[in-house]
Amino acid sequence: MPSKTTSLIHHPYAPPAGFSAPQPGVHKASTVIFPNTATMRARNWRDKSGYTYGLHGTPTTFTLEQRIATLEGGLHTLLLPSGLAAIALVDMALLKSGDELLIPDNAYGPSKELARNELKRWGISHRFYDAMDPQSLASAMSPATKLVWLEAPGSVTMEFPDLAALVQLAQSRDVLTALDNTWGAGIAFNPFELGVDISMQALTKYASGGGDVLMGSVTTRDEALYARLKLTHMHIGFGVAANDAELVLRSLPTLAVRYAAQDRVGRTLAQWWAQRREVVQVLHPALAASPGHAQWSELSGSAAGLFSVVFDERYSAEQVDAFVDALKVFKIGYSWAGPVSLVVPYDLAAIRSKPAWRGALVRFSMGLEAVDDLIADCEQALAKLSSSR
Ligand SMILES: *Cc1c(COP(=O)(O)O)cnc(C)c1O
Repeated sequence: MPSKTTSLIHHPYAPPAGFSAPQPGVHKASTVIFPNTATMRARNWRDKSGYTYGLHGTPTTFTLEQRIATLEGGLHTLLLPSGLAAIALVDMALLKSGDELLIPDNAYGPSKELARNELKRWGISHRFYDAMDPQSLASAMSPATKLVWLEAPGSVTMEFPDLAALVQLAQSRDVLTALDNTWGAGIAFNPFELGVDISMQALTKYASGGGDVLMGSVTTRDEALYARLKLTHMHIGFGVAANDAELVLRSLPTLAVRYAAQDRVGRTLAQWWAQRREVVQVLHPALAASPGHAQWSELSGSAAGLFSVVFDERYSAEQVDAFVDALKVFKIGYSWAGPVSLVVPYDLAAIRSKPAWRGALVRFSMGLEAVDDLIADCEQALAKLSSSR
């Protein structure tokens, strides 16, 4: 008989099989225990046929990977500790010294900073192109171009590009394409039907939906590409915590209804803003006056609950900040797709090489509050804006 101390660690009781519940169990491991050395040697971390080490996958992370692959319409998914880490994985796995990377000028800002600061040090160059002008991509491509990032719509300014045209251009030169599909979330359209090689998401946004998890995913349909991504993923030691994977698994069943609900509220509010004389432009792909509306309508009928407004130039950045500070239901904070409606003021001149508007821009992301309360909040804060003139 082993001692009580040892029995607390090595206990013979095994629960009966056949447990079934709405959510899968959560498995946590750094160490994975092998029944014998032969099994240990036979197992391979490269495929999902068995378990070798926590970093290389557990039943919990494999389950989440497969669900995200299904959501994206892909074959294989890798999980990363953040959306930005997912972008970094794609860049690091597919590029080497001497290669060139093309990024939309309106891409997620930190993706551009990664290219400017880190990739550059490793001898990987980059160029920014105007995603709204396929000709701009065509002329940016060179024999050194090995990867083209796509994003629809653009971050903050929300221009919706002709994704199919951009993908075709890259394909015609045998250049790989990776789409940041955080906004579409696997709901708005199917990225692989457009022919992209990789779809990446910040699961931090819609897949989590709670404002309490950071996670990213990289999905592909291509076995060889998956093998390359998996190798770099393993070499760098990217992994996600079981509890975080659990939170995302818990949120996935409500993803489609949350997406639709925030879409509805987002459009209602965007249309409300379009009637206001304080703003010169409302940026939401479902609005006819928003850049890329036609491309969006052709590809999809749905949209994330996210839009931006550009204030008339007669309002100073300080006045617009005062409007943002006066909001009560909308909280000031980055990220989106959680339960709390959020707002962020942006300086267009700082984030775009050729800003299309001169006034101050404010981005709104819809939470799950009642739409009337969100409108009333904007209205009372706007009253402060006019009175501060
Ligand atoms: C938030 C976001 C990211 C990065 O995700 P993190 O998990 O915050 O690192 C990448 N792309 C887009 C479009 C995003 O909105």
